[in-house]
Amino acid sequence: MSVRYFSIPELDKTGGVKTLYTSSCDIAWNYEDAHARDNYQDLGQQLGIRPEDMVKSKQTHTDVVKIVTRKNCGDGILRPLDESEPYDGLITNEKNLLLCTVEADCVPVYFYDPVKEVIAMVHSGWKGTVKKISQVTIQKMKSSFGCQPSDMFVAIGPHICKDCYEVGEDLYEEFSKTFAPAEMEKIFIRKNQEKYLLNLEEAVRLTLLECGVVAENIFSAGVCTLHSQVEGYSFCSYRRTKSKTERMLTAIMMK
Ligand SMILES: [Zn+2]
Repeated sequence: MSVRYFSIPELDKTGGVKTLYTSSCDIAWNYEDAHARDNYQDLGQQLGIRPEDMVKSKQTHTDVVKIVTRKNCGDGILRPLDESEPYDGLITNEKNLLLCTVEADCVPVYFYDPVKEVIAMVHSGWKGTVKKISQVTIQKMKSSFGCQPSDMFVAIGPHICKDCYEVGEDLYEEFSKTFAPAEMEKIFIRKNQEKYLLNLEEAVRLTLLECGVVAENIFSAGVCTLHSQVEGYSFCSYRRTKSKTERMLTAIMMK
C-alpha cells in the first residue's frame, strides 16, 4: 500500500510548490519508528525525490525556526536529530528539498514566497501559537532572504478545530499574555464555568495578518484532525488516540 496524502490545492495551484498532509493510515514518521523509513521511501517515490532530499524538524514546542540547506538533508529521516538543538520550523530557498513536520492536533503552517522563492514548514501547537512562531518565521524569511509578507501565500493545515478543542482556564491565561483582548474574543468561546473552546486557526490567522500577510493569500485545509473524514480517510489526533507516536506528516517542497 502506498502512502496516501492530500494537498493544499491553493498552494499547489501556484505551480511553484508541492504541499501534502497524510492520513491516519500512515502514522509512522519519527526516526525512532522502524516503519518511518519505508514511509519516507514510498512518499519520495511518489514525489520523485529520495529520503536524502528530505529534512524533518526537531519539535519540542519552541518558537525556533531553522534555515536548512541541502547539507541538512536526511536530518530526522536517515539519521536521528540532534537533541541539543530543538526547532519547530524549517525554512529553505532550495528547490526539490522536502521540509517535514509532524502533528497530531497541532497546527501545521505552510509558507511560500514566489517572489524570493523561499518556503517554510512550521509546527504550531498551542505553545508555538502563543509564542507566535508564524511571526518568527516571517521575520526570519524577511531578514535572511528579503521576503515581503505581502508576497507570501500561507496555508493552515489540518488540526483540531474550534468546535472540538476544549481547553481550560490555564490556556486562556497563556494566550492573554500575547494576544490583545479584542483578539482573545475571536480566539476563545466560553463553553461553561471551567471550559473554553479554542480556535487555533484564528490565532494563527490573526498573527499572519498582523505581520502583513494579505487575507486573500491565507488558506485553510478546512480539515479537523479529530472529527473530519476526507474521502473516507481520518487524520491523526492525539485527543482521539492518546498516542505519543502516531503522527500526521505535513510537508512542502519548492519545484
Ligand atoms: Zn473538529
